[in-house]
Amino acid sequence: MPARVHVLGCGDAFGSGGRAQTCLLVEALGRRVLIDCGATALVSMRRFGVAPESVEAVALTHLHGDHFAGLPFLLLYARHVAGHPSGVHIAGPRGVRARTLAAFDALYEGAGQSIAALSGEGAPARFEEYRASVPFGLGPATVTAVPVVHSEKSECFGVRLEVEDRVVAYSGDTAWTGALLDLASGADLFIVECQAWAGPPPGHLAFDELRRHLPALDARRILLTHMGEPMLARAPEIAGDRVLVAQDGMVLEL
Ligand SMILES: [Zn+2]
Ligand SMILES: [Zn+2]
Repeated sequence: MPARVHVLGCGDAFGSGGRAQTCLLVEALGRRVLIDCGATALVSMRRFGVAPESVEAVALTHLHGDHFAGLPFLLLYARHVAGHPSGVHIAGPRGVRARTLAAFDALYEGAGQSIAALSGEGAPARFEEYRASVPFGLGPATVTAVPVVHSEKSECFGVRLEVEDRVVAYSGDTAWTGALLDLASGADLFIVECQAWAGPPPGHLAFDELRRHLPALDARRILLTHMGEPMLARAPEIAGDRVLVAQDGMVLEL
């Protein structure tokens, strides 16, 4: 089967359009890695027939709830339902381990601490922090995390995944930055946030700005995601052969 992306969630933090929060499944060579794991990720996996235990790794762009709050539920499932034999490999910005376990503790008392006490075989997760622009292996992919411009309080990245001979890249949440040109360069699919139609909130993109950069983005196809209500209302006007609008459940071959 060719490498592909399965959109398990393409919503924003506000539930716009009734869409699930960010969760993008990349499948290649019969293996699966998630990009981001929003609060609704486990529900989306069940809804779209993806066995949670088949996900061997997660690449997190940043530690905002709509991008990582599904991890406690994925770990809960791994520990209590699936008995995941080798653990989920979770990569993310600085502090990813502490923030994930703290979130788990907040939702299920003591759960994060109990996971922290486990290591090696049988542990439901192992964590890795990005080194900016340094490629590393994650599940079936070679991942490169590139800093973007979203929050002053924490590290935020876009990610580029090479699988087989294909490339999928995702902006994460970000304002416009030249780093997006590097992320998208040569990609078969560039998934880019498009929170607003115009006048984006700080740290996000609007379509009126993104549109000016489309010719410079060297990606075969561009998939708009993370859209607020005003953007969703205008989205049917802009979808074409190269620029696509994400839907929950959409599957794209790379
Ligand atoms: Zn964010
Ligand atoms: Zn977000």
